Amino acid sequence: MTRVAVIGTGVIGAMTAWRLALRGAEVLAFDAYGPGHDRGASAGESRIFRTAYKEGASYVPLLQRAEALWRELERGADAQLLTMCGGLTIGAHNNPDVAAVRRCAEDAGLDHEVLDTAEARKRFPQHRIDDGEVMVLDPAAGVLRPEPAVQAALRSAEAAGARILSYHPVTDATETANGWRITSNDTTFDVDHAVFAPGPWARQLAPLRDLPVQARLITAYWFAARDVAAHSPESLPIAIRRHPEAGFSCFPALDGVAIKIVPHHLGWTDLEGPDDLPRTSTTDHARAASAAAARLLPGVTPHPMRTGTFAEGFTPDDHALLGPLPGHRRATVMTGFSGHGFKLAPAFGEIGADLALTGGTSHDIATLDPNRFPL
Ligand SMILES: Cc1cc2nc3c(=O)[nH]c(=O)nc-3n(C[C@H](O)[C@H](O)[C@H](O)COP(=O)(O)OP(=O)(O)OC[C@H]3O[C@@H](n4cnc5c(N)ncnc54)[C@H](O)[C@@H]3O)c2cc1C
Repeated sequence: MTRVAVIGTGVIGAMTAWRLALRGAEVLAFDAYGPGHDRGASAGESRIFRTAYKEGASYVPLLQRAEALWRELERGADAQLLTMCGGLTIGAHNNPDVAAVRRCAEDAGLDHEVLDTAEARKRFPQHRIDDGEVMVLDPAAGVLRPEPAVQAALRSAEAAGARILSYHPVTDATETANGWRITSNDTTFDVDHAVFAPGPWARQLAPLRDLPVQARLITAYWFAARDVAAHSPESLPIAIRRHPEAGFSCFPALDGVAIKIVPHHLGWTDLEGPDDLPRTSTTDHARAASAAAARLLPGVTPHPMRTGTFAEGFTPDDHALLGPLPGHRRATVMTGFSGHGFKLAPAFGEIGADLALTGGTSHDIATLDPNRFPL
């Protein structure tokens, strides 16, 4: 039986541990914190799932595989994780992201609708639509629940035989003649293969020190909806909003009170490391988020009632690093998901398990090759 250490159990490591355990590996899954914690990238109440992908039609098979695996995880763990409420991309008809979503849907033959300005205003008055703006509706989109998802994956991994070692920071990982020696809480563990899934902490682990992964701050804001039913997933799809004055992703109200937005137009602030994550936003950032809500979301009270700050690892081209760890044997790296990793996590977990157990995968992951950047 292959003994595999998974280092980091955010959504990526949790899914990898699950897929490895199902395939009979002896899994040791380490995390410095507890399952579903809020210090990294895999928390904050909601995540977008979408299939018509502005990042390119080449991702569609992976997204469809991820959707099937989300359903498998839900069945096995008796949890509701993915609600298919549809997804909107909103902006001027010639906005690059609006055009890219349409192109992806057309290239991949996906169901979709393009709503002109009048139709968009009629169907989704929760968004303020300027003259000339359109909506692209992707029915194969929805909202994921991040914390329960991580916990469900780890529960399923454990049920399949994995050891989940929470509150076990890995302080050393050294390559040996036959694998890796992992040190945590003053104990060493010898394994045949190491899967490094440390999210934004990547460069703090010596074997990953030279990888181009920058920890950045992403801030989310919750705004109380005046008519909650009209802003719940039954009525309001997830949305990617593009506008000359603001841009954000928008999530329906899951808590019976407020919708969430993650402003994109304000950029992401570099962090020295995830441990420097501030616990709230600056006044200027909150004011700008408030202005975006006031301008584009007419049904909310445009002052944030809740703020969440999260750390994510970004690469120079915003595509993840997923493959054999450069310069080492018997090691896989999965990091730098650059704000996109959650929806695809079960498919990435399957790929991580493929790489750890067979050294290859049938999924096309050429664009994610960790060797594409000079070290
Ligand atoms: C606010 C926000 C909104 C987002 N929105 C979306 C979205 O809508 N849709 C989407 O698909 N994606 C989205 N993303 C991106 C997605 O959430 C991330 O890509 C994904 O969660 C990355 O997961 P991860 O497991 O790589 O990292 P993390 O969740 O950060 O997990 C890494 C884990 O490794 C552990 N760790 C690190 N170092 C060590 C060590 N030495 N020893 C032990 N444990 C260690 C950490 O404690 C942590 O638990 C968003 C991200 C953020 C932050």
